[in-house]
Amino acid sequence: MLSENLAEIQKNIEKETGKSSNQQVKLVAVSKTKAIPDIKQLYNLGVRDFGENKVQEMTDKMEHLPEDIQWHMIGHLQRNKVKYIAPYVYMIHSVDSLRLAQEIERQATKNNRIIPILIEVNMGREASKFGLMKEDVVGIIIEISKMKHVKVEGLMTSAPLVEDPTDNREIFQQMKQLSVDISSENIDNVDMNVLSMGMSNDYKIAIEEGSNLVRIGTKLFGNRNYNK
Ligand SMILES: *Cc1c(COP(=O)(O)O)cnc(C)c1O
Repeated sequence: MLSENLAEIQKNIEKETGKSSNQQVKLVAVSKTKAIPDIKQLYNLGVRDFGENKVQEMTDKMEHLPEDIQWHMIGHLQRNKVKYIAPYVYMIHSVDSLRLAQEIERQATKNNRIIPILIEVNMGREASKFGLMKEDVVGIIIEISKMKHVKVEGLMTSAPLVEDPTDNREIFQQMKQLSVDISSENIDNVDMNVLSMGMSNDYKIAIEEGSNLVRIGTKLFGNRNYNK
């Protein structure tokens, strides 16, 4: 079933990217709550990028899986837990405060590495969500750009949960525009290479509006069971 789900998603991504000339889209398999054998199966099918939203879960899994997996932290991150993922995390998508970036800088320095991050934007302005308001993004990026062991690579958002995914089209357009605007400011040490948006429900629309990294859980692994 996993291989069919993967094939279906890859086909849809190709269909969407075929519409524009040089759009490349990375699939991050969101493996939260999912067991090691399922992750291994996807690994054996060629998937190397996995996303988790909890530090402990990611670290436990990392220890049981091949070293060349690229681990993406996509969930809200507490400052006191950065140290556990700093040695190995591939990218942190959920940076939403200067204080969190400062702690990542501290831990990345200790580990003698540069950690790529995305700035999480609450483009839907939802009270229940983490992420910066769009008007606060540039100011924080300018501060983070001075850090030597944190590298801003782009933006991330989780669009609202909607029945009809086309309802999120405008949010994705606003994200793309924000990314273009920041890029045109040519801030030193800041790139807008990554636009992380689109989940199971809305990834096709997100790609149509310029996403180049989709984070997909349910459509790949099936429904999550949080009670296990
Ligand atoms: C769980 C999660 C996803 C994946 O959601 P699905 O709807 O299962 O594809 C993507 N991004 C974040 C930040 C998540 O927490």
